[in-house]
Amino acid sequence: MATRLDGRRLAAALELRLAAVVAAGAAGVGRPPGLAVLRVGDDPASGVYVANKEKACERVGIRSLGAHLPAGTPAAEVLEAIRRLNDDPAVDGILLQLPLPAGLDEGPLLAAIDPDKDADGLHTLNLGRLLKGEPGPRSCTPAGVMALLADAGVELSGRRAVVVGRSILVGQPMALMLQAADATVSVAHSRTRDLAALTRQAEVLVVAAGRPRMIGAEHVAPGAVVVDVGIHRLDPDPAAGPEARPRLCGDVRFEEVEPIAAAISPVPGGVGPMTVALLLVNTVVAWCRRHGLEHGLDDLVP
Ligand code: NAP
Repeated sequence: MATRLDGRRLAAALELRLAAVVAAGAAGVGRPPGLAVLRVGDDPASGVYVANKEKACERVGIRSLGAHLPAGTPAAEVLEAIRRLNDDPAVDGILLQLPLPAGLDEGPLLAAIDPDKDADGLHTLNLGRLLKGEPGPRSCTPAGVMALLADAGVELSGRRAVVVGRSILVGQPMALMLQAADATVSVAHSRTRDLAALTRQAEVLVVAAGRPRMIGAEHVAPGAVVVDVGIHRLDPDPAAGPEARPRLCGDVRFEEVEPIAAAISPVPGGVGPMTVALLLVNTVVAWCRRHGLEHGLDDLVP
């Protein structure tokens, strides 16, 4: 049976590390780090994510300074809100919660975030910094995957890695980070022919296709390390009654792959908590950088 890559446990351990950095620096700086989550509209899943991020901030000692604008807010007003946060000295990290309501183009809004306050690591400048190996905030989900692999002692140098998915949010930065760790990386996408033949070559397989339970035993070589980034809400089990909560699943058929893989991340409890943890890391590192503090978090974000 595969080892479980337990993101919940590692995220909790990272929170303790971050809380110690914040506690050591806050008195000298005169204020705690601040993270502003900007939410527009009422996407219900986003509501849950934002609440989770705010609770995580509280555990670490980061101040939540977010704003919630109604659906229908014109782009110019959202832009103005971002500019105010850029100029606010109490704010070290800004996150624009996606998806935005229909009619708002995320591109120019993400581009308006001060790159040094880009808690999500998705600004074009920060993707360029990643490409060039320069310091800067890193995309949270792939950086969270790297932390999960490092914690499990997974050797990447010289290993063959396959990333399924080429989005700017996950697949592309994931491939760059694995390559920077000296893995030999292939990237699969919706036009890839014979996906299973490619993924079976992977010693490390990261799946971010956004297709529920797409990857099964036929895609995985025995002894591979499998990271499932996908997250999907399924309707509650009707047998569980009216109080039943939505079930979650990933892109991987966990029960099929677990017996053959060396290690596998579960959904929930794998990559999801790591994404939130890396958001906090980016915020604390930005705060330390602005105030010339040592943070000792270079193993997570350079
Ligand atoms: P996305 O923007 O929809 O990208 C999906 C990628 O997968 C695309 O590159 C697409 O190829 C590729 N793809 C789709 N079907 C495929 C197939 N049959 N075979 C091979 N490749 C295929 O999704 P995303 O934003 O990267 O997110 C991926 C998943 O991760 C989603 O389930 C999302 O909810 C989840 N996610 C989780 C976290 C977390 O914290 N756990 C964070 C972010 C995202 P093309 O480029 O050719 O279309």
